[in-house]
Parts: sequence; structure tokens; C-alpha cells
Amino acid sequence: MKELMIGVSGVRGRIDRDFTPRVIIAFSQAFGRLIGGRKVVVGRDTRPSGEMCRHALLSGLLSVGCEVVDLGICPTPTVLLMVKELDASGGIAITASHNPIEWNALKFVGADGAFLGRAEMEKMMESVRAISEDDRSRGIEFGTVTHFSEGVDQHIQAILDLDMIDVKRVQEKKFRVALDCVNGAGSAMVPKLLAKLGCEVLPLHCELSGFFPRGAEPVAENLEELSKFVRERGADIGMALDPDADRLALVDETGRPLGEEMTLALAVRFVLGKKRGPVAANLSTSMMIDVIAREYGVEVHRTPVGEIHVARRLEEVGGVVGGEGNGGVILPELHLTRDAPLAVALILQYLLESGLPLNSLASQLPSYEMIKGKVELRERQEVDLGSIRDAHSGAGIDETDGLKLMWDNEWVHIRKSGTEPIVRIIVEAENKERAARLFNDFREKIVRSG
Ligand code: MG
Repeated sequence: MKELMIGVSGVRGRIDRDFTPRVIIAFSQAFGRLIGGRKVVVGRDTRPSGEMCRHALLSGLLSVGCEVVDLGICPTPTVLLMVKELDASGGIAITASHNPIEWNALKFVGADGAFLGRAEMEKMMESVRAISEDDRSRGIEFGTVTHFSEGVDQHIQAILDLDMIDVKRVQEKKFRVALDCVNGAGSAMVPKLLAKLGCEVLPLHCELSGFFPRGAEPVAENLEELSKFVRERGADIGMALDPDADRLALVDETGRPLGEEMTLALAVRFVLGKKRGPVAANLSTSMMIDVIAREYGVEVHRTPVGEIHVARRLEEVGGVVGGEGNGGVILPELHLTRDAPLAVALILQYLLESGLPLNSLASQLPSYEMIKGKVELRERQEVDLGSIRDAHSGAGIDETDGLKLMWDNEWVHIRKSGTEPIVRIIVEAENKERAARLFNDFREKIVRSG
């Protein structure tokens, strides 16, 4: 099992190599035992290996006596929401999110409808290791499976029931929405949600085939086709999701992709206009949200990268909105996870209330340039972040996840990967030239280090 990637909230691997049915069974048995063999909600994205993985997962959960509620194909946030709604002891989403098609993964959800954290995952790993040793002595149980087809509809209703969404007024506006679900799990929910909001849906890649017709991440360079589609069809807005529908990116009415950082910035500005309170986001998220938070006199809490860190911080500080710059919006009032269908509704409501086309609304936000890149390390190269830090005594410093150095209107965040011999560098500055200079400067420092 050495080549599996075991992260904060789950386990992933290539299905043709390490992520085998046997592995899936071991993890699902361990999870089932961790939650005491009680009710567990499962759902999956559309990727072709999903059905095979689902059967292995069910087999594992049943063998430890779980009462499984199977939602079928649905967005990852639907699984998390339904854990709470159905009063389950946990949940598992079968999805490798934006990873290529030959990957799949399990993401584990606790009874509170949030992903497991590091400590709980470690407990699970102990249980996984124990399973191979004591499997025979533990005996076998026979759980049950119920197919539950209402998950997506309940999720839609929960979004429409939010006070900040005025369904009637959005319906009257009759937005024309070009929607690119990358043939992922969003296809099972977002067209329906948009129809309920009175929108005319112009679908692009909204089938449940799981064959991704573009790069799976909703980053600007993968949205060329959607941009063209928006222009050709005269849509008011283009919306693009990742395969498990927890990230949303936008294209304006002129066909310009706004970049995935803009989704959270718009959502934060909209929510703070309704409800003031703390905001949380990871360290790599654009400083647009700091500028917006200052307008409203509220604080931005920064966390290590990883959705669960942001979710837990929002919970701790009583945050009203947060997420990740990659297009992941979290509204604690609904639940503690990134939710693209939720973001779809928030953005449409914001467009409606602003009375502006998206292009003009987005241009009200401060504009920065971000560069995200990486440096591949030489064999046995050690990067000394401490000496890079010491060389920049004038900067603001955050060392909770790698090293982040901050100045007025620019920052750099340097993180070593836990799974590959690479160092990631993310910079943001006021313009392209400054961002490029900052990026190249720190890339040099890392190449020379060690
Ligand atoms: Mg995702």
C-alpha cells in the first residue's frame, strides 16, 4: 500500500496500480469500525471506475455491519450535507476530484458533516493496519444498503431555503447560464438547481459519462471552450465546475474567464453585505478578500492549505463565509464544506442585487496578479525555509504551513510537498511584472538552497 496517497481527509491512488478493490475494502472496513458499524452515507462522482469502487466500498462497509445509505452519483458536498440531514454516523465520497481519470479516492466524513481531520485519519490508519492482521478473528457481519435518490433534491432545497437567496426575484431575472460540468457529478444537480432558479440552462459537458472533455480543474486555461460558448450563445454568465462539484469558476458575459480566485472574492463580498462576521481562507488564497473584509471591518483568518483547516477555523471563530481561492466557497450557515452548487446560487443572487453585468461587478474588486508554480528538487536537496525567512526581516511572516512572507500589496507562499520532491511557490502582486519578478526571485532562492 506504499504508493497510495494518504492525506488529511482521505486516501487516493491510481485504480490500475495501488487503489485496488482490496485496498478500498480495507479502508471501508476500518471506517465502518471507527464509526461503530452504524449508519453511513455514500455517494460518488461520475468517473468510470466509480461503480467498481462503489461495490468494493459497499462490500467493506456491509462486512462490518454498517447500515449504508447510497446516494448514487452526486456532488461531494451533497454527501456531507446528507450525513447531517440523515443523522448518520459518517459518510464516504468516492471521488478523486480534479485528478486525471485513472485516479480515484475515498474521502471520509465525520458525524458532524465535515471531513475527518488529521488525528481521526491517523486513528483510521491504525485500524486499516490492524485489519490485515485480525481479519479472520473478527468474524463477519451483514449490514444493509438503502438506495436514497432524494439527496440531490434535498441539497437543492437547502440552498433555496437560505435567507440570502430570494428565489422569486432570481426566477424573474431569467438568467441565461452557460454551464460546464466537465461531465462530472455537478451534472446531476446544477442544471436542476438552475432550472429551479428560473434560469435558461445552456449545457456544455453536462453528461454523467465521467469522461472529462477538458482539463478537470476549472482554471482559466481549461475554459476556452466555455468562453467561446458564452459568446456564441449570448449567455449572461458562464459557470464551470470540477468533477466532484466543490469548486466553481466563472466566465463573464464577454467570454472572459475571471480566474478561480474571483469566485470566493465575489461570494465573500456578497455574504458580508448581508451578514458581517469573520472570514477564513487558506494562506494561498488571494488578498482580494482582505481588501473586501477591510471594507466591512471584519477579520480574515488564514489557515494551512486543506479544506478541513478552513472549515474548522470557521467553526472556531464563528465565521460567516470562507473557503479556498481555487473556487471553493464555504457557507457555515449551510455546512462546513466547499460547495459549488451553493456558490452558483450566491453568485446569481449577487448579480441580481447588483443590477450589473458580471464583467462590471467583477471590475469593482481589486485586481492582482497571481502566479502558482513549482520547483523540482534535486536528489537529496534540502530547502532551508528558515534562512529564506531570516533574509527577509522586513516582511510579515506566517509559518503555519511552509513559509509565507507578506509585504504591502504582495506576498509569497512557499510549501514543500508532502508526497513529491517539489516545492510549490505562489505569489501575488499588484501587476504582472511585479508578480513575475517576485516569483523568479524566490524560485532562484529555492534552486540555490541546500
Ligand atoms: Mg473537487
